Amino acid sequence: MTSICNNILLPDVRGSVRENQPLGAQGWFKCGGAAEKLFKPVDVEDLQLFLSSKGDEDIHIFGALSNTIIRDGGLPGTTIRLGRDFAQIEMLEDYRMKVGALALDGNVARAAAEAGIAGLEFLSGIPGTIGGALRMNAGCYGTEIKDVLLECECLSPDGELKVFTPAEMHLSYRHNDLPEGWIFLNATFRGIAGKPEDILAQINHIKMRREESQPIREKTGGSTFANPSGEELEKVGIDPSMKVWQLIDQVGGRGLRVGGAQMSEKHCNFMINTGTATASDLEDLGEEIRRRVKETFDIGLRWEIRRMGIQK
Ligand SMILES: Cc1cc2nc3c(=O)[nH]c(=O)nc-3n(C[C@H](O)[C@H](O)[C@H](O)COP(=O)(O)OP(=O)(O)OC[C@H]3O[C@@H](n4cnc5c(N)ncnc54)[C@H](O)[C@@H]3O)c2cc1C
Repeated sequence: MTSICNNILLPDVRGSVRENQPLGAQGWFKCGGAAEKLFKPVDVEDLQLFLSSKGDEDIHIFGALSNTIIRDGGLPGTTIRLGRDFAQIEMLEDYRMKVGALALDGNVARAAAEAGIAGLEFLSGIPGTIGGALRMNAGCYGTEIKDVLLECECLSPDGELKVFTPAEMHLSYRHNDLPEGWIFLNATFRGIAGKPEDILAQINHIKMRREESQPIREKTGGSTFANPSGEELEKVGIDPSMKVWQLIDQVGGRGLRVGGAQMSEKHCNFMINTGTATASDLEDLGEEIRRRVKETFDIGLRWEIRRMGIQK
């Protein structure tokens, strides 16, 4: 059985399907366009049913939208937002835990700490979901997802269930080889034995470091650009240990504005919406930084923030 939404046939799913739903406004940047259709599956079977019968429909999925700009013209096709069923956290033997793709990284870090599992503290510094962390191979302070991931369950774009190890997905710095269109359902992580009080102290330390160095209370999306590799920098005669924020600083990027978008004064690789930014202000500002860095250093910066949808 099917139902009709916006003149497109949809499989008879149990979750809600709504048209023209604000999306950008739900993200960390608090700007950007709407989702043409928004589907909230109630469970994995519901999501599989949808994927197996969706035809050529464009599909997108997001977690906390802490790494994404939704362009002002909105996002065509169907956007999937997972529901509570996908946010579970289950403790297993041998310092392992299985967590749903919608679980917040911070909640996973705290649950691990309380269970005496060390090694996942870094997640407390990342404000997204596990699904977003798997896609981005998120990390900070020397640890990233690939260091603690045993395996993850995913659905193919047609709804087929598969399990992948980090090696199979070729996880590297902010990169996952799994093609777009695959949906992460959950991840199994392994840590090591630790004392809850020590792990919680480490989490507090991470929190303090971030408060000091990043504009975490602003409307932002984290690091705008990935750090170029040492090899890339060496090739153009730059000290290979230089970080992207230093390149941005040297081209006058700190505090630079386009419309309501600004490169943060506190951490100049963080872009912020000062209150009135459109998604295109943010993207134009990022492109201006890329242009200046290319002109000055002959380095092509890679956007770490995802940009999706149609420009207005
Ligand atoms: C203040 C701040 C600090 C930050 N610090 C860090 C940091 O230290 N280290 C770091 O790595 N990142 C950092 N980030 C960026 C961001 O939090 C991470 O990239 C995070 O992993 C994104 O998760 P999300 O759920 O918000 O993803 P979203 O922004 O919702 O999506 C990001 C990508 O993941 C995909 N995705 C999301 N869920 C799924 C799923 N279930 N299945 C398939 N694909 C999915 C989306 O399609 C999209 O391509 C920071 C962001 C902010 C705002």
